[in-house]
Amino acid sequence: MVIFNADKKFERFEDVTPELLIKEGVKLLLCDLDNTLRLHSEKEPADELQDWVEDCKKANVKIVIISNNGRKKMMQKFCKPIGVDCVWWAKKPMSKKLTEAMIKYDFSPEETVMLGDKWSTDVLAAKFAKVRAWKVDHRRNIV
Ligand SMILES: [Mg+2]
Repeated sequence: MVIFNADKKFERFEDVTPELLIKEGVKLLLCDLDNTLRLHSEKEPADELQDWVEDCKKANVKIVIISNNGRKKMMQKFCKPIGVDCVWWAKKPMSKKLTEAMIKYDFSPEETVMLGDKWSTDVLAAKFAKVRAWKVDHRRNIV
């Protein structure tokens, strides 16, 4: 089904470079959290995540984490040190929270991308919200 196709595929979030975001006209990057920006078990943001977020900010890309994870306190604690807003219990593939974020931060669907690791939640939610769906592989430990 075409609706399930990601518009771009990457191995990991680090491959989504600020240069690419600028080239693609991305101003708002909605990101899944678990297995996209971190391993499910990671309690604190990894150095590579902090660096990547900083680089994206320098490129004037707004990052908002949109997660189906329902642990509000854990999410806030994780996102605060990297200075990124987060939405928990987003109920993807429902697109409501993606649309709300675009309205809240005043970006159009054309300026927005949803980045995530799962077809059935992230990619589909992006399609429903009429934004580009970029997919990463499930995050693995990098040795
Ligand atoms: Mg995920």
